[in-house]
Amino acid sequence: MSETHTMSTMPYSDLSRDEMCKALSELDQALFHHEQWCEGLNQTLICSLSPDQRDTDLDAHLKCRFGQWLYGAGASQIANHPSLAEVRSLHEHVHKFARELLLSSEKQSPILLQDYERFLAALKQMKLEMLTAKHELEDAIYNIDPLTGVSSRVGMLTKLREQQALVQRKVQSCCVAMLDIDHFKVVNDTYGHSVGDGVLSNLARRMKRNMRPYDMLFRYGGEEFLICMPTTGMETCYEALERLRSCVAEEPFEIGGAPPIHVTISIGVTMLDPDGSVETTIERADKALYAAKSSGRNRVIAWDAAMV
Ligand code: GH3
Ligand code: MG
Ligand code: MG
Repeated sequence: MSETHTMSTMPYSDLSRDEMCKALSELDQALFHHEQWCEGLNQTLICSLSPDQRDTDLDAHLKCRFGQWLYGAGASQIANHPSLAEVRSLHEHVHKFARELLLSSEKQSPILLQDYERFLAALKQMKLEMLTAKHELEDAIYNIDPLTGVSSRVGMLTKLREQQALVQRKVQSCCVAMLDIDHFKVVNDTYGHSVGDGVLSNLARRMKRNMRPYDMLFRYGGEEFLICMPTTGMETCYEALERLRSCVAEEPFEIGGAPPIHVTISIGVTMLDPDGSVETTIERADKALYAAKSSGRNRVIAWDAAMV
């Protein structure tokens, strides 16, 4: 199985951090140009100036600077984002409506309120979609661990609290697991830190590939990960984690020129408690992880109240 294949629901997960930063700065610039275009349009309409001919052309949406970004290289990296598909359609509508307003104004015909309102509605919707794409891009830049490409701890407690609210309302049950690589220090000591880094990032990819799209994986720190599995009872969750454990243990990692590296993982798991704090749930998963370590490693252990 290829270690480079990832199955992720994150819209920007195929981009490197640098690519995401570049895409964000170009998106910001495009938004600025769009605002400038809006100001110019309002000025033309309010002061009855003669319109810019590019705005009255049928393909005006391709000619404005925002359109050049949207259909050009600038937006190509994020072109598959669902919001961008909406933006393309809305942007075309915005220009179609703007063209009609400009042509009325040029003929000195009155602009109907309903025509101006449908223009504004498309404009507002387009802005909302743009800000959604921007927000998700920022989220991906600031909340993704650069080494492994999985979510960092930033935002983890918020996501767990959201899940806890669903558990409290009995919408679903949810499991939380702590996972730690066994004897990882030996991997670093034997093959070097950069090979260790390779194991960490390949392990994260392998885990993501084996998880459901709505499971959440966070790098908790060092070689420890936290997994949150919504809509899952303990039995199903335990089986899924056991599959994860065995798929790591059974297939060594091939990193650069290093010999195949055999790695095992230990996992502690517990139900997300609706009553205590989410930190208490994490502590329980951590205690179960400790039990997995002290009873021999390479195993999954569920928390029980007798664990101290
Ligand atoms: P255990 O089975 O008890 O978990 O043993 P361990 O060796 O995995 O645990 P220990 O806490 O002694 O060592 C953790 C190691 O993980 C040491 C540390 O250098 C390594 N580590 C943590 N973060 C990174 C990282 O980002 N890259 C690399 N290469 N190593 C890391
Ligand atoms: Mg370890
Ligand atoms: Mg550790």
